[in-house]
Amino acid sequence: MDRRDFDVAIIGAGAVGIGAVEALIKSGYSVVLIDRGDFASGTSSRSSRVMNCGLQYLAPNNSTMGQMLKQPRVLATGLRQARAFMRARSGFVREFPDRSRTATSCYPIWRGDRYAGWQVDLAFAALRMVDVGGAPLNYRRVPADRAKKIPLVKWLRDAEKLHAVATYTEVLMDWPERVLVDSVLSSEARGATVLNHTIIEAVTPQGDGSWTLRVRRDETVDELHARLLVNAAGPWIDEVLARTPVTAPRKIAASKGTHIMVRLPPECAQFGIVTLNRKGQPYTILPLRGLHCLGPTWDPYSGGPDDAVPLESEIAALLDEARYILPGLSLARQDVAFAWSGLRPYAFHPDFPQGKRGLEFHDMAEAGLPNMLAVTGSPLGTYRVTGAAVAAQVATRLAPSSRGTAAQSAPLEHARTLVDLLFRRTGEGWDERLGLDVAEAAARRAALTLGWDEAGIQAEFAAYRAHVARQHLVGA
Ligand SMILES: Cc1cc2nc3c(=O)[nH]c(=O)nc-3n(C[C@H](O)[C@H](O)[C@H](O)COP(=O)(O)OP(=O)(O)OC[C@H]3O[C@@H](n4cnc5c(N)ncnc54)[C@H](O)[C@@H]3O)c2cc1C
Repeated sequence: MDRRDFDVAIIGAGAVGIGAVEALIKSGYSVVLIDRGDFASGTSSRSSRVMNCGLQYLAPNNSTMGQMLKQPRVLATGLRQARAFMRARSGFVREFPDRSRTATSCYPIWRGDRYAGWQVDLAFAALRMVDVGGAPLNYRRVPADRAKKIPLVKWLRDAEKLHAVATYTEVLMDWPERVLVDSVLSSEARGATVLNHTIIEAVTPQGDGSWTLRVRRDETVDELHARLLVNAAGPWIDEVLARTPVTAPRKIAASKGTHIMVRLPPECAQFGIVTLNRKGQPYTILPLRGLHCLGPTWDPYSGGPDDAVPLESEIAALLDEARYILPGLSLARQDVAFAWSGLRPYAFHPDFPQGKRGLEFHDMAEAGLPNMLAVTGSPLGTYRVTGAAVAAQVATRLAPSSRGTAAQSAPLEHARTLVDLLFRRTGEGWDERLGLDVAEAAARRAALTLGWDEAGIQAEFAAYRAHVARQHLVGA
């Protein structure tokens, strides 16, 4: 490790930590990202993989559109959240076309349902209003008699009570883990220090308000220092707090979600069902890599986060619900190819047994741990929105100590000289200070690969200064 002092240390490389390092490094903070396992291997690899369009925020706590319209402030918040999701959805499709998949989601509307057809129309009209383009919803409300021609719909329950089917384009993330790993690598190229498979043995506050982390990687133990700590350990946030000398109040109330993958008839390959289960919780049947993903479950969870694996009872419950929604398919245990479980890292709150949903920042100063932020409840798909929000929180507490030092950890990419590295690999040569402030550190870093000794480092640094003086008339 070339560097041990950082502005910010982020514990946990899931959606939150990876979004945060991306935003912080762009804002000029020096950052270290540490995960005890691999990048994106926690909850962020356990989701339903849906780039939500934000529909759920237009009916918070299962409220109806009529109730929402009576509460303008709730409606305004819902619209703001929906816009963030629509923006992230469009951005994802534009930036990662090879990782985006689309499917036609069918939302059945039975007579006497909680949401009438006009309310669904209104919700999608609101989504269209906040859409910034890129991934159209293609919303349609299809009357029941015509909808029965859509694959999957013909197997739905209570055909005689089916009033209509709302269809729209769903965006799914194929392999979000790779999107997150790519983001880590690009942050590393910009100067972040990123450490996977690194155990944090102790988290110790210092007298000046900064932090020391004792970390172990294989057999090597190191001490890292940071002025601010972001606890982005998802369901493990409380376990990280337990490594500090303070007894902090509980922050996480995890909700367990299990999925099953089943093979459906080939004509269903592009279609899914989005509905509520008999408890009124979201239940989706969506295509993924040639199979369909069914679920999730929504159960309070009190075990250890590492023990959250699928249970046969959860698989049975998911199949039971599938048989209720799509009786015509008669799904059974032998149709299940595989299953997975994850824990939603919701905030602990005495009034919410399954935790409080929604992104929340916890200033741990209240618990005697100043300069530590914990982050709960971020979805996966909006990792960049969350990252920007983390950077905004950090900015209210801390200014970057120096601008980014990409050259300190950037891959050399065939660069042979310091001028190659700073002008044509990291771009720092074109900054206002022409890279003179980072050149020596960059030379030391490059020396490890290029074999320069101390004299070689000084020669490269001198050659760099000479280049800048001759070509740009600075610092002669
Ligand atoms: C069943 C289910 C379905 C979901 N579906 C969707 C969906 O369709 N769309 C969507 O956008 N979101 C979805 N989500 C939500 C989303 O997946 C999570 O909220 C999000 O991934 C949480 O990210 P995180 O960074 O907070 O946590 P994690 O991804 O869990 O990251 C925390 C990281 O901290 C690390 N860590 C733990 N302890 C330590 C330690 N001591 N030291 C260092 N590192 C440590 C872990 O290894 C882990 O990598 C779903 C979640 C679940 C559970």
